[in-house]
Amino acid sequence: MSAAMNVIVILPSWLGAADRESLIAMATRLPVSRVDALAFTGDASPGTVAARAVSEMDTIASSASLVLLPAGPDGEQCAALVAARMQGASFGRCTSVEVADGAVHARRGAFGGRAELLLRSDSRITCATLRPQACDRGAAAVHAVEIAIEDPPRTAEPVASNSALPRVDGAQVVVSGGRGMAGAEGFDLLARIASALGAGLGGSLPAVDAGWVPVAHQVGQSGKFVTPKVYFAVGISGTPQHLAGISPQARIVALNSDRDAPIFQRCDVAVEGDWREILPLLAHRLETDAQG
Ligand SMILES: Cc1cc2nc3c(=O)[nH]c(=O)nc-3n(C[C@H](O)[C@H](O)[C@H](O)COP(=O)(O)OP(=O)(O)OC[C@H]3O[C@@H](n4cnc5c(N)ncnc54)[C@H](O)[C@@H]3O)c2cc1C
Repeated sequence: MSAAMNVIVILPSWLGAADRESLIAMATRLPVSRVDALAFTGDASPGTVAARAVSEMDTIASSASLVLLPAGPDGEQCAALVAARMQGASFGRCTSVEVADGAVHARRGAFGGRAELLLRSDSRITCATLRPQACDRGAAAVHAVEIAIEDPPRTAEPVASNSALPRVDGAQVVVSGGRGMAGAEGFDLLARIASALGAGLGGSLPAVDAGWVPVAHQVGQSGKFVTPKVYFAVGISGTPQHLAGISPQARIVALNSDRDAPIFQRCDVAVEGDWREILPLLAHRLETDAQG
């Protein structure tokens, strides 16, 4: 390990407290003496976080720096933007990252986990995204800086991946739909409900794959980690991969037609029924209340 290598952890505002601690702890286990953590607060897009992180890094990036970010679409986007602005390398979806011989070595699954890629970067800046995993802190000292940012005022509705749908990032309430929505029509209803509640609109992987909701709204292991106070899960069975994207602190309200759906084992409020009967009434009621 080169003494010149330093590690910078970017903790975007959409990352929950437990994952922040995990990512920092993972960084302190690398063979470095110091870890700089840029802890962002405020509602900001990956682009805004990346731009501000780059200006902060001007002062702390040494001759060789490893920059760690959380996995997920926003983390990958942020990592790619930071790497591009600093003319560095970007390694997405890493399963592990090591520092040795002045270089960064990372591992990443490929072909659905049937192969593993071993990556090496000798760039001055290497950005790598990792899924935070709880572990004890290592020996490196942590120097954390808190940075408050907000996206600049917009002239139009927020656009995440060309979508004007309400975003899940930072939302206090999230209304999500799954394969049980059976089409885009059901998502129109969910979007109306989300809009009336001032909530974000989420979806499961099958709903995203079917094109009913954009990928920027996917919740779960390979999507976003959301930290709302209340999470509405409609037509979602409750697989571990989906639940992995929901903060354990969130209260889950589940609507499902199958009384044996696993989500009913995890939720706080269980509603057994067909969304086709319940959601139109709910949307109408919320919109009527909003007008009156
Ligand atoms: C590596 C990996 C990563 C993954 N990452 C993610 C991820 O990030 N996010 C994610 O969501 N999944 C992810 N998955 C996929 C995951 O395993 C499940 O396939 C997925 O979560 C199931 O989505 P679902 O609940 O919408 O669909 P289903 O499991 O098919 O559930 C549909 C539910 O809708 C209910 N339903 C049907 N009709 C109605 C109705 N009319 N009214 C009410 N309820 C109804 C059904 O009873 C059922 O419970 C991942 C899988 C792998 C292997």
